[in-house]
Amino acid sequence: MPATLIDGKAFAATVRGKVAQHVTRLKDDHGITPGLAVVLVGEDPASQVYVRSKGKMTLEVGMNSFEHRLDADTAEADLLALIDQLNRDPAVHGILVQLPLPKHLNEDLVINSIDPAKDVDGFHISNVGLLGTGQKSMVPCTPLGCLMMLRDHHGTISGMDAVVIGRSNIVGKPMAQLLLNDSATVTIAHSRTKDLPEVVRRADIVVAAVGRPEMVPGDWIKEGATVIDVGINRIDAPEKGEGKTRLVGDCHFESCAERAGAITPVPGGVGPMTIACLLANTVTACCRANGLAEPEGLTA
Ligand code: NDP
Repeated sequence: MPATLIDGKAFAATVRGKVAQHVTRLKDDHGITPGLAVVLVGEDPASQVYVRSKGKMTLEVGMNSFEHRLDADTAEADLLALIDQLNRDPAVHGILVQLPLPKHLNEDLVINSIDPAKDVDGFHISNVGLLGTGQKSMVPCTPLGCLMMLRDHHGTISGMDAVVIGRSNIVGKPMAQLLLNDSATVTIAHSRTKDLPEVVRRADIVVAAVGRPEMVPGDWIKEGATVIDVGINRIDAPEKGEGKTRLVGDCHFESCAERAGAITPVPGGVGPMTIACLLANTVTACCRANGLAEPEGLTA
């Protein structure tokens, strides 16, 4: 039986709708407008697209959007001074520094200079520690989006066997931690994992965050498993015409969909959830900063 498609685009629209409702309530009942500041250093084309679309969606849900574009050769001290200013600005509830940064800037230093309460990307070492000890934290957006989709599809994932392929700080590790916090039995696989196909075949839940186009074939997937494909890979698509490309995930969609119980597509799966969760994190940060109840269903 073909897999159920987990429609991240539709789910993200629902999440943004909930965020917008909460923003309206914050404005009407408390006179507070949540604000998200996005800092872009340099002119990386992909980053520019992300920043534009983040700004647009921030405004669409009724929040304030503050964009700071700095030259590629900005000195570290100047970037840190801007972050300090945003940390102290009461109109700013969330701060996101678009990664990757130009090579001369120390990414860890920059991220760890953001006030953890405003760290809507959830990359600050304090938030990593809080998540790791099961405490209230800001949760990285992409794994949070995956968790929301899994909870929505399964109700509970307690006791399920989950395999996360990839151990990056921004996706793999926090994803594994979130699954563990929800009482799944978690295996983290990576480039040194022995017999990856057999490891994946044991999983009720497979989260692929590798960055290798269509690396996971259908015959690695246990019958009925849920497949969350985080990968975004651009490959040549000669069938669409000369020089054309298309996006694919880390899983071979057609063959995985034949065995999986449910699967996220690429595009239209995890991707749209990432920005929706950034907005959710900003509204959560705003509520926490003002001692107000957090929106339900928008946090881990
Ligand atoms: P990284 O490159 O930081 O990490 C990739 C991970 O995959 C590493 O842990 C690496 O292992 C592992 N890996 C590489 N090759 C293999 C292999 N052959 N077998 C098993 N594991 C392997 O990538 P990210 O985590 O940043 O991103 C992963 C993917 O997710 C990318 O395609 C990226 O574009 C996408 N992405 C999508 C987002 C979204 O919004 N949907 C957001 C963020 C990322 P090792 O540690 O041993 O090297």
